[in-house]
Amino acid sequence: MTITLNDYTTKEKPQWCPGCGDFAILMAVKTALAELGIEPHNAVIASGIGCSGKIPHYVGCYGFESLHGRSVPAASGIKLANHSLTVIAEGGDGDGYGIGTQHFMHVMRRNYDLTYIVHDNQIYGLTTGQASPTSMKGVKSKSTPHGLIETPFNPIAAAIANGATYVARGFAGDAKHLSELIKGAITHKGFALVDVFQPCVTFNKINTYQWFQPRVYKLEDSGHDPKNKDAALAKAFEQEKNNYEKLPIGLFYKEERATYEDQLPQLKVPLVKHDVSNVDVSKACEEFE
Ligand code: SF4
Ligand code: MG
Repeated sequence: MTITLNDYTTKEKPQWCPGCGDFAILMAVKTALAELGIEPHNAVIASGIGCSGKIPHYVGCYGFESLHGRSVPAASGIKLANHSLTVIAEGGDGDGYGIGTQHFMHVMRRNYDLTYIVHDNQIYGLTTGQASPTSMKGVKSKSTPHGLIETPFNPIAAAIANGATYVARGFAGDAKHLSELIKGAITHKGFALVDVFQPCVTFNKINTYQWFQPRVYKLEDSGHDPKNKDAALAKAFEQEKNNYEKLPIGLFYKEERATYEDQLPQLKVPLVKHDVSNVDVSKACEEFE
């Protein structure tokens, strides 16, 4: 059976602002799933809350819209219940790197076979423009009228340092490249982060497509070796050292490590396929009556 983009197209039309970087991420995700030949009934997307949180409505596979910052634990539960599924978590920078940071940190050392795509627009978009964890120092926003005095969260460095086994960054201005990174993340066995520079055309008037275009460059064109952890960390910190003049995108780091699921003999067969016909839960139920 050949899978096409049409198989992932929904009747519901995206409710994002015209020109929003979320459109390119949506197209890149659908393209990656279709080109990998994954049947829609075998894929699930879990999201949090925010503009990115709407994405499960627009991809024609299973979806779960969870709470703010909780796409990762929702996706983890889905994966453990049926690890034969392709499970993608999606979130925003405010959502996933703010209230959801704790989940992000711990999922990486567990190394579930998940793909986590973060729509990183360096702002809280849905709540109309407050500084987020990845906003640049000095940025003036509704919540920082005199300029942000905090140091931005560095998701790439955090992911490399905390055990993610595939760490990449894409740009919504290059959907084809982004789609290849997402394909790599889905086919990678282990936890994969794809952070995406995603211009918010309505509330972030600094980090625009025009701002990113001359700054981004591809790691694969620079001779970077993604197996070299020290080199990957150095690339992760490059933007801070050069004051955002050069922004690497592409695959920063990749390693092979046993997944959480692979280390549990109980999960040789997905949990949902276990025979429970002779399991009696009535006593456990009585405790809750
Ligand atoms: Fe996109 Fe920003 Fe509009 Fe949200 S507010 S849909 S992130 S442009
Ligand atoms: Mg955001």
